[in-house]
Amino acid sequence: MGDGNGTVIIGAGPAGLTAAYELLRHGEPVRVYEADDVVGGISRTVERDGWRFDIGGHRFFTKVSRVEDFWHEILPDEDFLLRPRMSRIYYRGALYDYPLNAGNALRNLGLREALRCVGSYGRARLRPPKDQSHFEGWVSARFGWRLYSIFFKTYTEKVWGMPADQLQADWAAQRIKNLSLSTAVLNALLPRRNRKDVTSLIEEFQYPKHGPGMMWERCTEEVEKRGGTVRTNTWVTEVHRNPARRRATAVTVVDAGGERTEPADHVISSMPISALVRAMRPEAPPEVRAAADDLRYRDFLTVALVVPEEFSFPDNWIYVHDPAAKVGRIQNFGSWSPYLVKDGRTCLGLEYFVFEDDEMWRTPDADLVAFATAELERLGLVRPGCVEAGYVVRMPKAYPVYDERYQHNVDVIRGWLAREVPNVHPVGRNGMHRYNNADHSMLTAMLAAENIAHGAGHDVWTVNVEQDYHEQRTPSRHGTGRDAPVMPARR
Ligand SMILES: Cc1cc2nc3c(=O)[nH]c(=O)nc-3n(C[C@H](O)[C@H](O)[C@H](O)COP(=O)(O)OP(=O)(O)OC[C@H]3O[C@@H](n4cnc5c(N)ncnc54)[C@H](O)[C@@H]3O)c2cc1C
Repeated sequence: MGDGNGTVIIGAGPAGLTAAYELLRHGEPVRVYEADDVVGGISRTVERDGWRFDIGGHRFFTKVSRVEDFWHEILPDEDFLLRPRMSRIYYRGALYDYPLNAGNALRNLGLREALRCVGSYGRARLRPPKDQSHFEGWVSARFGWRLYSIFFKTYTEKVWGMPADQLQADWAAQRIKNLSLSTAVLNALLPRRNRKDVTSLIEEFQYPKHGPGMMWERCTEEVEKRGGTVRTNTWVTEVHRNPARRRATAVTVVDAGGERTEPADHVISSMPISALVRAMRPEAPPEVRAAADDLRYRDFLTVALVVPEEFSFPDNWIYVHDPAAKVGRIQNFGSWSPYLVKDGRTCLGLEYFVFEDDEMWRTPDADLVAFATAELERLGLVRPGCVEAGYVVRMPKAYPVYDERYQHNVDVIRGWLAREVPNVHPVGRNGMHRYNNADHSMLTAMLAAENIAHGAGHDVWTVNVEQDYHEQRTPSRHGTGRDAPVMPARR
């Protein structure tokens, strides 16, 4: 059904651009509006002074064959590198192999600390913590307090910005059952009979040689070549609906030239679903707006520091478990691709998990560069005084937060959209408030495009709920898809 106005797509990240490309494949006209000055969304590659930075390091890995095909339709094979994954854990001056291996772990911990870990494990087995409903209780009951505090507590608290005894335990059960550090720790430190398979940690992944943004820059060219438009620096501020017809009819966009209204037969939205609700005109009912206002996000900040190549390391990234440092992970962009760096230097991306508008977020760039430089030097990963340049990249809403009420809130919004504006199609990561990787964000867009082009009737919300996934082999009880903890809701 349409009045010849085509589809408006909000956002030129992986979901928005995939939707555009797929609709054009079906001969459907599209206009993409992107608020930022670059395409790619969280999967962009930022360029400053010829250095290229990835937001968090994007591995191209999928079990969805049509996504894999899409990637290779957009970029020729010679633009992909096949990279080995390597990452280690930094803790109190030592680098631990990941997955841990016994010799390396023992050497790093030292005999004394290793014995303490074993003792603490024994105590936890004899007298487990009473409250195991939270992450801290659950993990320390299984591994002992010392191993828990070295290998789980600090990093988890950095990522989610909250004490580990406030994160629900089912996430730990989920994550730890499936793999991860626990298996690695057990393999390294506990008797052989308790060992579990760790093969899932050994992997290779594809990576576009100029970073993930290259995929989306090229995709934009293809969309434009096929007659679509992609406008950057253009905000969608309002979505107009006709309540009598139960349809969205137009969007208001704002760019440097001012404000205008663009008619639409369909709207595909990859903007945060909370913002989509707030953009509705006439307004959504109070309970839907309240659900939108209750959704939360975790934000992300990278300080990229240019250092001489001698301080490069083979890892793609290093997890920093050291409680004395605020930095959560350190990317080595040169290990992702030699095309991201230049001039006999590499670039290290110190990643800080933050909340938008917290003190760190508001700190001026120059101070952040000085702070990150000092942390890097203190960790002993570079020689003092060797940092030559620094750049700050802020990425708001990097992670949709799963709190106790988020599922209910999403259900309220989703139900209302389906009833009142069924021609508005939420897709992607923040677009659906789901912890989707790029492949699943793209798949939701492909399905939405088919729903528009030939009424395929896909339920886009089933993506990444029941599917087998590379880092999660069993579906979560909460149907949250990826493994993220459920947090306490704001009171
Ligand atoms: C640290 C980190 C590491 C990651 N690593 C991986 C990885 O290794 N592999 C992987 O596959 N995935 C990874 N991901 C996930 C991946 O980044 C996302 O799945 C993907 O970018 C989501 O695509 P999207 O199009 O749904 O949303 P986004 O990428 O968020 O794009 C949405 C776009 O909409 C625009 N927008 C928002 N509001 C408006 C508005 N009002 N008007 C116009 N435009 C608007 C935004 O500016 C943005 O460009 C990672 C994510 C993070 C945070």
